[in-house]
Amino acid sequence: MSTSPYSHMLSPLDLGFTTLKNRVIMGSMHTGLEEEKGGFEKLAAFYAERAHGGVGLIVTGGIAPNFRGRISPHGSQLSFSWQTGKHKIVTDAVHQAGGKICLQILHTGRYAYHPFSVSASNIKAPINPFKPRQMSERQIKKTIKDFSTTCYLAQKAGYDGVEIMGSEGYLINQFLCQRTNKRQDKWGGSYENRMRLALEIVKASRKKVGTDFIIIFRLSMLDLVEGGSNWDEVVILAKELELAGVTIINTGIGWHEARIPTIATSVPRAAFSWVTAKMKKEVSLPLITTNRINTPEVAEEILKRGDADMVSMARPMLADADFVNKAARNEADSINICIACNQACLDHVFKQKRASCLVNPRACYETELNFESTINAKKLAVIGGGMAGMSFSIYAAQRGHDVTLFEANSELGGQFNLAKNVPGKEEFIDSLKYFRSELIRQNIKVELNSYQSVDSIKQSGFDEVVLATGVVPRIPEIEGIDHPMVFNYQQVLRGDTKMGQRVAVLGAGGIGYDICEFLTEKGQSHTVNLELWIKEWGIDTTIEHRGGVDGVQQENPASARQIFMLQRKDARFGRSLQPTTGWIHRAALKKRTVDMIAGVEYIKIDDQGLHISEDGQIRILAVDNIVICTGQQSQKELNDGLEQAGIKVHLIGGADYAGELDAKRAIRQAANLAAII
Ligand code: NAP
Ligand code: SF4
Repeated sequence: MSTSPYSHMLSPLDLGFTTLKNRVIMGSMHTGLEEEKGGFEKLAAFYAERAHGGVGLIVTGGIAPNFRGRISPHGSQLSFSWQTGKHKIVTDAVHQAGGKICLQILHTGRYAYHPFSVSASNIKAPINPFKPRQMSERQIKKTIKDFSTTCYLAQKAGYDGVEIMGSEGYLINQFLCQRTNKRQDKWGGSYENRMRLALEIVKASRKKVGTDFIIIFRLSMLDLVEGGSNWDEVVILAKELELAGVTIINTGIGWHEARIPTIATSVPRAAFSWVTAKMKKEVSLPLITTNRINTPEVAEEILKRGDADMVSMARPMLADADFVNKAARNEADSINICIACNQACLDHVFKQKRASCLVNPRACYETELNFESTINAKKLAVIGGGMAGMSFSIYAAQRGHDVTLFEANSELGGQFNLAKNVPGKEEFIDSLKYFRSELIRQNIKVELNSYQSVDSIKQSGFDEVVLATGVVPRIPEIEGIDHPMVFNYQQVLRGDTKMGQRVAVLGAGGIGYDICEFLTEKGQSHTVNLELWIKEWGIDTTIEHRGGVDGVQQENPASARQIFMLQRKDARFGRSLQPTTGWIHRAALKKRTVDMIAGVEYIKIDDQGLHISEDGQIRILAVDNIVICTGQQSQKELNDGLEQAGIKVHLIGGADYAGELDAKRAIRQAANLAAII
């Protein structure tokens, strides 16, 4: 064993017929490339980079064993030998890069987003408009055969194994639980019957591929839905899976329809490794743990404690392909960490767009976005040290440009600096550390407290200027808006203000939600206190209650203030929030009893408070303070002056477009410009 601080994480795992070089598995993640024309070549490059980066084992995104099991009508499927060719491109690339890769076999059951879906019973999922048909006995037997065929074809295509998806509320999970299985035949009723499908699939698959082929089973150990499995059932299945020939069990946490967050940034790091640790006492085959593991320190701690034999990270491998190698070189501070925002990965998959990563726009664009050395090195000034300015500087310096980054404030980070103060967004702290340290590693000249003018830039003789000066809050035209009780969100998040007990928040976009969470938080953020977080969301850690939640009370956190959140639209609150995480923010404010008032007209602000008109009635909200969260405007005063002085200027990030102030767009725009400048 090496003397690295990550010696557990870096130690090999002997599976008997094959050895994994370390304990890190790149978890399954659909990228959208699976369905793109020419996508498998891009997938091959994507996975090969991760294999190069040292990961012990890769699991692909879910591939269906038959048509009905596809995630969407055009979803990927592997059922015929002619389909193995494109998979071979991926497996060859990964093997050449020294890696190992398993194909995930995923039958979506009632989560299929098409009218041909099937399930144990014909019960519609709350998150899908399509109602499934109950599978006939013949269909069940055919599906078992289809799984084994896909397993066999995966072996032919050069995969080192498969992962059978038995969790997250997909087909196998739907058979396992009373919630979705109301059958009276040998596939429903008793637990022995409900787990029959899972075991038959594993047995049939093992028979087809022989002993020397990895079969991982992703077992839902904590369903987080009413009518889910209880712990006794989960253990029975795990023991049966071991006997049926599974090589490794992976931990599944929560169905997609669960209303408890499992991977969002507000979930504490390693929030569910205790579940895998419980299973360690029950079975002897290797176990993988998952969810919110994003640094080598967290991974090492889990493995050192003995909670699991391996750790799975999916999104962190998008954020940094070299995660494992950097840890092995003891350069953990150079890892671009995943902030668990979902913005460019899962939110994209949800909208059927190609996945990428907010902090690493190269993810899934390995063949398209590269930072080749330039033959025309330029002297570049970057004005503004937010995410756009920092990212551009890093990528441009990688290409050999001479970059100076000017920031008017005393600190780099821009909007991330504000976001890091919001409870539940603590990940931004480490992300900022990475970006700042990368500037140092790239020898980029950084000048803080350095306000630039057209003259100062002109005198310094830069070839080109990149304006990344970000945004300023939009101040609405309301009588009395300059009253001393009024602050904008930047002043509040910077801690420049002392807020009273009753506060009105104007605007209900992402920032309005952030401000409400910031102002209502009492005591420690639950994101850094697992015990409180588990109580807040009502999770039974004995898992005696079905799904770990059936009949368990949630403990609503006390609110530090009385908050009114207002918007002019007469529409549902939170509609502009992201698809995969918006519901979490809505639930958080409900727990903190924020009073939401839609369809208002702002009349005036005076010593009495905020005067509004609601349904034609005048109402005075007697508040101590008012916080403005009504959007942003681009800050780009320098642009015209620089252009008039004949200097070539490029606008990026919020300075270019404030409409959807968005780090994802800002960083990608910065990277795209850096690649061609
Ligand atoms: P936003 O989403 O555009 O929301 C602005 C809010 O202000 C709206 O509720 C709007 O509602 C109101 N408003 C707009 N113009 C107004 C005016 N002239 N007078 C009074 N009210 C006005 O902006 P944001 O909240 O600043 O967020 C910006 C971006 O940041 C988002 O698009 C998102 O990408 C990102 N972000 C997201 C999150 C998250 O998802 N958790 C968190 C932070 C930031 P009415 O017009 O109905 O009043
Ligand atoms: Fe992580 Fe956000 Fe990147 Fe997804 S987009 S991998 S959640 S940092």
